[in-house]
Amino acid sequence: VVTPETASRPSICAANRVVKVAFDLPRLPPFDYLAGDTGPDDVGRIVVAPLGRHQLAGVIVGYADTSEWGLDKLKPLTRVQREWPAFAPAEMAAFRFCADYYHHAIGAVALNALPPKLRSAKAFVRARVRHVAPGATARAWLTAPPPRARALTAVLQSVVDGIRDDTTLKSMHPRAVASINALLDRGLIVVTEAAPPMTRTIALHASPALNAAQQSAVDAINATAGRFVPFLIDGITGSGKTEVYLHAIAHAIRHGGQALVLMPEINLTPQFLRHLAVRLPGARMVSLHSALSAGERVERHLAVAEGRADIVIGTRLAVFAPLPDIKLIVVDEEHDSSFKQQEGLRYSARDVAVFRARHAACPIVLGSATPSLESIANVERARFTELRLTQRANNAARLPTVEFIDLNLERASDGLSQPLRSQIGATLERREQALLFINRRGFAPTLLCTQCGHMNACTRCSARLTFHRRDKRLKCHHCGHEESVPQTCPECGSIVIVAVGEGTERVEAALERAFPQARIARVDRDAVRNKGAMERVLGAAAKGEIDILVGTQMLAKGHDFPNLTLVGVINADGAMFSANFRATERLVATLIQVGGRAGRAERAGRVLIQTAFADHPFYRAIARHDYRGFAELALSERRESHLPPFAHLALLRAECDSSDALHRFMQAVSHAAHDARHTLPDQAIDIWDAVAPTLARKAGFERAQLMVQSPSRVALHAFLEAWLAKVDQLPARKVKWIVDVDPVDV
Ligand code: ADP
Ligand code: ZN
Ligand code: ZN
Repeated sequence: VVTPETASRPSICAANRVVKVAFDLPRLPPFDYLAGDTGPDDVGRIVVAPLGRHQLAGVIVGYADTSEWGLDKLKPLTRVQREWPAFAPAEMAAFRFCADYYHHAIGAVALNALPPKLRSAKAFVRARVRHVAPGATARAWLTAPPPRARALTAVLQSVVDGIRDDTTLKSMHPRAVASINALLDRGLIVVTEAAPPMTRTIALHASPALNAAQQSAVDAINATAGRFVPFLIDGITGSGKTEVYLHAIAHAIRHGGQALVLMPEINLTPQFLRHLAVRLPGARMVSLHSALSAGERVERHLAVAEGRADIVIGTRLAVFAPLPDIKLIVVDEEHDSSFKQQEGLRYSARDVAVFRARHAACPIVLGSATPSLESIANVERARFTELRLTQRANNAARLPTVEFIDLNLERASDGLSQPLRSQIGATLERREQALLFINRRGFAPTLLCTQCGHMNACTRCSARLTFHRRDKRLKCHHCGHEESVPQTCPECGSIVIVAVGEGTERVEAALERAFPQARIARVDRDAVRNKGAMERVLGAAAKGEIDILVGTQMLAKGHDFPNLTLVGVINADGAMFSANFRATERLVATLIQVGGRAGRAERAGRVLIQTAFADHPFYRAIARHDYRGFAELALSERRESHLPPFAHLALLRAECDSSDALHRFMQAVSHAAHDARHTLPDQAIDIWDAVAPTLARKAGFERAQLMVQSPSRVALHAFLEAWLAKVDQLPARKVKWIVDVDPVDV
């Protein structure tokens, strides 16, 4: 926005002649330029500046009177982006926190919070926002809309409710572009000048009466308005957490603020948006996630930055949304590992969200049926306030019974044991739905030559290729490499090659043979690749048009199928013995979430878990629906082995196409770590040996990692500061490295 202050800035004389610009360059300090007509109000603004022979976009992070390079050496800025608002101080503070905590460059953090088009050095010409208003006949039309005009009706209703700019309409209604044009053609809406925002009365529509637990949760959250209080809602599946969020969101908006809602899955956002649009008519909502086109990203980012949104809903990247007046943050399914960015700039959106709430002095609500051990520990340390919802909200709905099928006694063919098969049959006979969970896509994880034992492996990764029968391809799930399925063994020429183990495709095929009448839908990354495919499947399942769902953990979260009464877990044991210390926590959470899909309405649900280890205390806890019992066990294990949340970890990850170069680099990194520890006052820092991760080679690159750990967060950060400064100096031309603070995959 060009405001009067920024448009006619007086030229700056002595003070603040030097502007500091941070770029998206790893671990480099800001660069100095001549300030020109910019000044301290421009901190947070994007500029384009020369760097070497290039022009690069960067962000203004500060001003100075002089430069150590000498004023005569400094270059002027090439361009100052005044087409859109600069980052506000609160956003800059969040970037600063992220940069310090995760040891990234502030420029990298800030620029990554922008849509790609806005962080390019190319001039950006913004599209005009189109504003609309209801036409003269709109309200009359809405009293009796034609039957086959659902999309039109929904969009028009939003306009009448007070949503007036087309970005927000498009964000709220997936097919709004066509609907807006059709409504304009019919005169049901008209294009207008941008009007000052109308006063909208935001009230929750069609609210069920809250039960006592929900009401006291809502009261507790709403009583804290204006203060930073982090809440953990530990509410069993179906306990009505969403209702609590809605009341808190409505409260925040009614008090003139904005709410930020983070969800783990893109697929959950449209469902929640539609829900919100009905329940909170008039609230302006914008969803942000990575599946948007470049144009949509820009439009929505600007809508949020310019204060045209009351609620921002999104996946982890939305945690950096430029919300000027945030009054509530909700993180749904807070335990979910997808809140952790695993590539490039690594950060935990949940933890950054807590920082943002603290900075904005507003409540934050973390919700889950299976809270992370970190959050439970934060409750025990009295850092988080706990709210418990222990009953299903729908009175008739009870938690499912959980039983085990002992794989030591029952042989499974194509993943399905006889007892599981007969229970699926019985479910279908009752005209109810079944869900089968298997955490692996494709047909089979291995092709094996029975003559010589050869298994097809990826040439670029230290991993086997997964057999995808439908596509007749072998695929690497790590690097995307694909090849055709060999007719004979590449090693010995034998034609006896068998598919070992099972994935979703194989289970789907077995179900098709066993239950030829059943309508079966597979849900995994292959099956729902196209935009909207997941929504279509879930919609069909909700309408009862699908009898059996078979899929990966994509099915575990948040969906509500009233007629689903059987959940079968095909093989989960692998995670119990994983090298990753978080694997069991993730497994138990997933199983509880998957199991939570069963019996959400009047009919009782049943969960059948196929396992060879039914007596394992973690499985027993699942059977008792005792997540907190599991958490206590797991926390005491973590305490004994000095693992998070009782210790803090950081991992230096490196990769290189030459294993010699990588080895030399890691040795130097390890020396640097020991040196750095010596320079610090007696600090409890453990430095592990450099090792290869489970996937030692990925996409042709050898990988290595070195872990450091400390019981003290402060000590760890001081150590990282000293250590990484040394690592920065190491010759590492071919090695790419990054530090991962609070790693989830170790
Ligand atoms: P959760 O997110 O905790 O798993 P949901 O919020 O999806 O649970 O709620 C489960 C079901 O209970 C939903 O169908 C919801 O509409 C219903 N529900 C929520 N609160 C109430 C209430 N107070 N009275 C009746 N039904 C409710
Ligand atoms: Zn062979
Ligand atoms: Zn590969």
